Amino acid sequence: MPDFAVVRAEWQSLRPEIEALFAALWQVPEMPGLEHKSAALLAAFLERHGFSLTRGSGGVPTAFVARKGSGDGPRIGILAEYDALAGLDNAAVPYRSGSGRKPGHGCGHNHIGPANTGAGIAAALAAARLELPGEIVVIGCPAEEICWGKIALQQAGIFDDLDIILTSHGDYQNGALSRPCHAFVSSEFIFRGDSAHAGMGTVRDALKTAEEAMAAFNVVLAERFPGTSEKHIFRSAGVMPGVMPEEVRLWTSLHHSDLGPMMQAYDALKATFAEVAGRAGVGLEEKFISACRGYLPNHAAGRVLDECLRAIGPPRWSEADIAWMQALSAAASPGKPFELDREIAFFDEGTDYYGQDDGDASWIVPLARLNWAYPTTVPIHHWAWTALSGHASSSPGPLMASEAIALAAVTFLSRPDLVEAAQAELRERVGDEIITVIPPGINEIMASDPTAFWEARW
Ligand SMILES: [Zn+2]
Repeated sequence: MPDFAVVRAEWQSLRPEIEALFAALWQVPEMPGLEHKSAALLAAFLERHGFSLTRGSGGVPTAFVARKGSGDGPRIGILAEYDALAGLDNAAVPYRSGSGRKPGHGCGHNHIGPANTGAGIAAALAAARLELPGEIVVIGCPAEEICWGKIALQQAGIFDDLDIILTSHGDYQNGALSRPCHAFVSSEFIFRGDSAHAGMGTVRDALKTAEEAMAAFNVVLAERFPGTSEKHIFRSAGVMPGVMPEEVRLWTSLHHSDLGPMMQAYDALKATFAEVAGRAGVGLEEKFISACRGYLPNHAAGRVLDECLRAIGPPRWSEADIAWMQALSAAASPGKPFELDREIAFFDEGTDYYGQDDGDASWIVPLARLNWAYPTTVPIHHWAWTALSGHASSSPGPLMASEAIALAAVTFLSRPDLVEAAQAELRERVGDEIITVIPPGINEIMASDPTAFWEARW
């Protein structure tokens, strides 16, 4: 193992910058694909510490690739995320105080960006002091929340030269993971009918048809695809009830632990929608957004991260931090007992509930991920997660992850045999399956006019 003291000293000197960036990113929550300020803050952090930067990598305007080191050893990729979620603005107070109309960091990507970026910088500085060959590559990954950015980057070959990928996220437990998460597919469907006074009754009603199509598919889903879950929103469904909308946009996503069964359910969704729309004489257009596999577990890579995490220990919350989180929990989940994981563990059983746009990447490069815990009474993708992510009581978790990832990156640089073991495990798990990404349908609009995507006029 490398000299952890050197890595930890480098990381400690960066810690104030990392914590300042948690707050700075939280102040400028930006929608997926529009993260210009957040990407610039992280790029400047990397450049201050001697990384060379490429911006707009892979045709993704708010992406970047930052490199430091020499190319003749392992290449360690570290993923930074920094997008926010629609409608989840909240002040950093332990109660609801937001408009519900502006973006907010309800998934804590204001932590992931600086924590993972800081880990990469600390690792590169320590590697230079320890004279380790190899390269640290920090990849700025926009638009995770619509499960797109990393798929586009992978399609453009951005991950191809990496030997290991490391990342982190807030969740409900502290520890390294080596277990699958969900595959997902996401699409917008446009139903086109007639615009008329809603009382006329004889026209082709796009909204009613879209509602019927969704209800019909949910029957099909329950009967034929019990392992698949469905979520949807209407993005555009008229302005006032007296005028039937000419166009209705329904954005839907499916989740399942396996890509294959999920895509079968997606085919059934398209067939159901076509049948219902056809019967009503309503036009239907599929606008595919993206699809991705769940994580491929990698115990060899995960155990390295686990071992490094054990050298750091669990998050060091103060009594004041706990008291603040308890107050928030009481507001967000009244009557529920306060529970917060204060230990660390290695998670290699079961399946995680979320989908991630680096799912496909984990099938071509060994990927190891660390989670840090929020209280179980603070729901993710909720105003309370935004509130906590803007308050300093949430910092011990991502700081733990950041320091552990720095140690893991340097461990892989100094131990090419551990890199080889993780790659051998990946080869064995993948077997002769050819891994290709399903090309997203929004590359062009997100590169040229992401605002048009968000205004539902793409
Ligand atoms: Zn997230």
